[in-house]
Parts: sequence; structure tokens; C-alpha cells
Amino acid sequence: MNTTPRQLVTRFAPSPTGRLHKGHAYSALLAYRRAQEAGGRFLLRIEDIDTVRCRNEFVGGIFEDLTWLGLDWEEPVRRQSEHFGDYQNALDRLKAMGLVYPCFCTRKDISREIDASESAPHGPDGPIYPGICRGRDDASTLLAEGTPHAWRLDLAKALAHIGEPLVWQDELKGEVTATPDELGDVVLARKDTPTSYHLSVVVDDALQGITHIIRGEDLFHATHIHIVLQKLLGYPTPVYHHHGLLLDERGERFAKRNKSVTLESLRESGVDPADLLAALGL
Ligand code: GLU
Repeated sequence: MNTTPRQLVTRFAPSPTGRLHKGHAYSALLAYRRAQEAGGRFLLRIEDIDTVRCRNEFVGGIFEDLTWLGLDWEEPVRRQSEHFGDYQNALDRLKAMGLVYPCFCTRKDISREIDASESAPHGPDGPIYPGICRGRDDASTLLAEGTPHAWRLDLAKALAHIGEPLVWQDELKGEVTATPDELGDVVLARKDTPTSYHLSVVVDDALQGITHIIRGEDLFHATHIHIVLQKLLGYPTPVYHHHGLLLDERGERFAKRNKSVTLESLRESGVDPADLLAALGL
């Protein structure tokens, strides 16, 4: 029997839609230190599937800011925009299992349906998709006509296929039972991009052998659906650690649009990274 423990692998996976701020520094450092302390590996991944919002200059900014913080990472850095084929393969597997369906809805169609219904359940990501395109008779005709469409997970079918409760180990919360109903039939491939955050993050964490996912608790709700996708695709479920979010003086979350707290502006104003880390309790 092989008793060698698996080497711990963590990652920091920013989207290059703006400059990094203190909150990113905190998250990246937690993941980096965790790997170092365990003699493990730390990976950096650029989550740039949204080719409209993501910009190359921000990728350079990420390297610059993390280097300033004293981090290093393995090369080559995985950039999601170079791996659409991997996400397509995963989607094709789910299609072959009959667990996804094309969705032709516009935002307007969805809000009209929600407004018209008596009860419109809301989840942490907003109103849950009301299932307009689930089981649509004309789906193959619309597909053949080239009608723009997304692909959604048929969550009820997926859960029936799995047939058992799903749990994950969360280092701060303990054993968590997944309640993916709060997110419903999530989009796995968008109309404008052949994948989605949920699909690509799950595929990449598996392909890169990530054992410990350390990220902010703003993504806690997404984990419920990630566990489902891992199970469907036969991937292992990593250990999770959803850390609390840093708040500014007004008690609000740091945002990329708030220029005053970007790592770039701190560096330019002469802040010593060691002082910043100490102020973050790191
Ligand atoms: N790319 C995501 C973000 O910048 C984080 C993904 C993750 O850690 O799972 O918010």
C-alpha cells in the first residue's frame, strides 16, 4: 500500500480585470505560506476567460505586485484563455451524460419570467434561473439554426445521477453538506465564451492537482456547485479554506475600482511590503 501523503498544492487564481488590492495580497499570501509551511507547491493561475473584461496589462500587474510581496511561483503560469479546449472536453462529457441543456434566453426573457412568477427563489448570485429552456422541444431546431445559446447544468438530473449527499471538508467550517439548489441550473458555457467561471475553475483545479483551495468566503457559495461538477467529472474534491474578507475603514470590501488600496499605489507611495503584511496580520 502506498502511504506517501499527497504533496500539498495551493493556488492563487486572480482574474486580470484590474489591479490587485490588499484583499488579494491577503489571499495570495495565505495560499503561498500554506504551501511553503507544508513543503508543498504554490501555483499562480490567470483566470482570463472573459476576453472583454480581462486585459494583458493587468496580467503584468499581477506578476509585478506578487513579486513585490515576495512571492514566487512555478512556471509556466496557466492562463485559462489558452485552454478553452480543456473546458470544451469537460462540457462534452456532461453533454454526453445528458446533464446539460442549451439555453437561448436573453437576460430580458429571464427577468420577464421571474417578474411573472409568484415565487422567484433567490440565491446568493441573485434570482435562480427559472428553467425556461429545460426540456425545450425545439432545442435541436434552434441549435441547428445557429441560435445563440449558453449551456446550463440540469441540476436536478445531475443530483439524481450522483444519488448521494455531497460533502466537503472546510478547514474553518468543518464538514459541509453541499446545497447547490441555492444556485440552480448554473451556466457552464456562456453565449459569448465557451466556458464559465464554475466549469473552468473546477477543470483547472483538477488538472493542476490542487489539494487545498484557499480563497475568500465570497466564493463559499460557489463551492456548493463546484463539488457537484467534481463528482460528475470524476475529479477529487480538494480541501477548502474560505477565509474572511478584509474590510476597509468603512467596513466595505476592497474592490478593484477603489484605486487607493491597489498594491501598485501602495508601492508607489513608498509602503514597505513587510509593513503591509504585518498590518494584514501575516
Ligand atoms: N478568479 C476568481 C476571482 O478573481 C477566483 C477564483 C477562485 O479562487 O476560485 O475572484
